Amino acid sequence: RQEVRAVERGALLATMASKLPPGAISFSSKLKSVAGQGPDGTLLELQDGRQLLSKVVLGCDGVNSPIARWMGFSEPRYVGHMAFRGLADYAGGQPFESKVNYIYGRGVRAGFVPVSPTKVYWFICFNSETPGRKTTDGAALKREALELVRGWPDDLVAVMRSTPDDAVVKTPLVDRWLWPGLAPPASRGGVVLVGDAWHPMTPNLGQGACCALEDAVVLARHLAPAVLAGDDVGEALRRYESERWGRVFPLTARAGLVGALVQWGNPVVCAARDGVVIPRLVRLGPFLEHTNFECGLLDPAAPSA
Ligand SMILES: Cc1cc2nc3c(=O)[nH]c(=O)nc-3n(C[C@H](O)[C@H](O)[C@H](O)COP(=O)(O)OP(=O)(O)OC[C@H]3O[C@@H](n4cnc5c(N)ncnc54)[C@H](O)[C@@H]3O)c2cc1C
Repeated sequence: RQEVRAVERGALLATMASKLPPGAISFSSKLKSVAGQGPDGTLLELQDGRQLLSKVVLGCDGVNSPIARWMGFSEPRYVGHMAFRGLADYAGGQPFESKVNYIYGRGVRAGFVPVSPTKVYWFICFNSETPGRKTTDGAALKREALELVRGWPDDLVAVMRSTPDDAVVKTPLVDRWLWPGLAPPASRGGVVLVGDAWHPMTPNLGQGACCALEDAVVLARHLAPAVLAGDDVGEALRRYESERWGRVFPLTARAGLVGALVQWGNPVVCAARDGVVIPRLVRLGPFLEHTNFECGLLDPAAPSA
């Protein structure tokens, strides 16, 4: 059975953090660079001047990962689309059915989905030759986003208007295709990349965070037995990469191609998309076929394949 689940980032992080012993996480430890690697481990330099010598480093630091840069990965490629995202707040309860709502325009598309009894997530993707000037002024971002969907369905506009200014962000959409033979390996010594740091993908299939979670499960399954046995972790990290590459590379490519299709601005192509392709050819089952993926259970004690 296929269904879409939406979860607030804060709730996901709090749930995961609650499974760790108190004090296990050192917050606000921003990595500046990888200072070196030797037989004792990898030396990390933090922005506050501290240095950490680590046996294993999981580079899950997102699209602008300093660890990926150190490993020789190219900068993610801007694909020509920007996104606004927001989280509407309905203190008295939100009024929507539990389903994803999509609205397509010319070179602009939007959607919204309830994530909890009081919160509704929305997004707008739009074409833009360059990412433009970076701003964190939430009120200005919200005005800009509302301008893009002027005259669009009332529900969407109402959701956007119910969003606190500081809950609106604007993001350039980027990806990086892990071409075999061209992309560097996902690990070097005891350092390994996970999630967007390794395989940034455009959000057109809604799979970036899902893949990051799958990575974490598969990595834990390979890494935990090696760490517990005191073995060299390099081999476990390579097995993680070879298991995950076949999943993340095709998805990154497919997400990029779907993005090119749904972001078309040409009016004739948009008419065909809205009149024929989406209503007649897109069925939820095949459209969500990429979500039929089983990454296995997370059991650190289980032997890895
Ligand atoms: C518009 C849009 C819509 C999306 N929709 C979906 C969707 O519907 N479904 C889906 O599955 N995915 C979606 N995604 C993708 C999803 O957001 C990402 O794939 C996911 O957040 C990746 O998780 P991550 O943990 O790898 O990286 P991030 O979520 O980016 O987390 C990286 C973490 O590293 C920290 N960090 C960064 N730099 C440093 C540093 N130097 N030192 C220490 N820490 C650092 C950051 O603070 C952050 O906490 C969407 C993305 C966009 C842009």
